[in-house]
Amino acid sequence: MEGLQITAPGAISTTEKKELFENSSSVKVKITKTLLIQEDFVTFCGDPRVNYPIIPGRVGIGKVIETSGDNAFGFERGMSVFVHPVTNCGKCFECAKGDFKHCANFNVAGKNVDGFLRDFVIAENDCVSLLPPSVSETEALFIDHVAVSDRVVDAINLQKGEHVVIVGGDVLGIILAQLIIYYQGVPILVDNNYKNLELAKNAGVYHTLFADNKIEKAVAELTGARLAGKVVYMTGANLNTDIALKLASNNATVCLAGFGSPNIRINFNTALLKQLNFNCVTNSFGRYDSAINILANKAIDTDVFMIKTIKSEQAIPVICDLGKNISYNACESMLVVENDKF
Ligand SMILES: [Zn+2]
Repeated sequence: MEGLQITAPGAISTTEKKELFENSSSVKVKITKTLLIQEDFVTFCGDPRVNYPIIPGRVGIGKVIETSGDNAFGFERGMSVFVHPVTNCGKCFECAKGDFKHCANFNVAGKNVDGFLRDFVIAENDCVSLLPPSVSETEALFIDHVAVSDRVVDAINLQKGEHVVIVGGDVLGIILAQLIIYYQGVPILVDNNYKNLELAKNAGVYHTLFADNKIEKAVAELTGARLAGKVVYMTGANLNTDIALKLASNNATVCLAGFGSPNIRINFNTALLKQLNFNCVTNSFGRYDSAINILANKAIDTDVFMIKTIKSEQAIPVICDLGKNISYNACESMLVVENDKF
């Protein structure tokens, strides 16, 4: 396979590796489109948790070109597929018990295992999902975002008609808001960036609020003075966590959600006074088929996200350019690469 790898912070170059079928239950996939997310650019800038070199690219979709063994799980040449970006390690204590969703060391594409900015990948059958014709390639690029959002909906135990404050209007926050509407909740999206709020409105999110000193009053008005019993803080959005805590009611559930694990400070004084319950969602493990169904049901409008799209041969200079500054405008620190030659 050929692809691009980040050799050290700030350095990216072409790479070639030989990949072989290791067992009789794998497929070889030609990656047609790769989505780089903000976390890929964090890796490019230098992430102490990453062992370089690493191939970036959190999301990869493509077509099956070869299957191994007799047990092809229904996969056939030419089928469109999504290769899972997060898989369990298979080695830790939890994996040994069969408790895969609590794996202590998930394999995460572009972080601790190679991502999808390459021409081919060999993956085990159960780490690949078929894409139905009703899910377009553009929609499929957001499967991971929908899958993380689906886990958040569970983590906050969303009830019909319930208000959920989302602090952070990055692409993940806006997709989460759309999913909450789909499940008949009432999202209130908060950001300090007018562009992101506009984008959220275009995606059908009706309560969008600018995070200024009147925010508490505005949320109290919408929620009937009780503030929000469910608050989700988007870790990729770069807002102060005080906003999330301020908008939470007493005994509220506060979920920290995102693809990365940046250094975030939380004022536990407020948390203790309000008796808040915290939980975290940092990956999409096990939710890919559910996310594909949600997209097939047209619950999420992905057309609002205008993400720069380039050919793979242009990728090196564009990634270097985007990697200079991590942008907190939704869509700006993201890139779609159409794979041809590297
Ligand atoms: Zn494990």
